[in-house]
Amino acid sequence: MADQAGNLTFAIIKPDAVGAGNTGKIIDRIIGGGFRIRAMKMIHQTRKQSEGFYEVHRGKPFYEGLTEFMSSGPCVVMVLEKDGAVKAWRDLMGATDPTKADEGTIRKEFGGSVGENATHGSDSDENAAIEISFFFSKLELV
Ligand code: UDP
Ligand code: MG
Repeated sequence: MADQAGNLTFAIIKPDAVGAGNTGKIIDRIIGGGFRIRAMKMIHQTRKQSEGFYEVHRGKPFYEGLTEFMSSGPCVVMVLEKDGAVKAWRDLMGATDPTKADEGTIRKEFGGSVGENATHGSDSDENAAIEISFFFSKLELV
């Protein structure tokens, strides 16, 4: 399928989920959800990198804690492909706060708190393109 706005999104398995040994289970849910994994790597971000990634949230009360958490351990970054990928991945993840997430969602099952909520997903096609290019070159999408 040709890459086009609407069929790609960017995902992170966050340090809480990687540290808890849930990486494989989450990848299984992604594949079971009909996504094709176009790129994937494990990284351990510096504080500067996580601050750069979450630049849009700078100044919010949770920014310091969020960027510290995201650089606290390894995470898995991925490019996912599916029709309507942004919404489809956010639906599979569930609400930001795991206590408010629907049954059967990844954050409900694996998230521990509103901050340490297992996964990240882009919120628009425009931000998906920005976030993908933050971590991957075009050549790395297979
Ligand atoms: N976050 C937090 N406290 C909040 C809101 C968000 O710690 O009150 C963290 C949480 O890890 C969330 C991330 O900041 O996933 C980005 O927030 P956003 O509102 O974009 O939520 P998301 O798009 O991840 O559902
Ligand atoms: Mg967001």
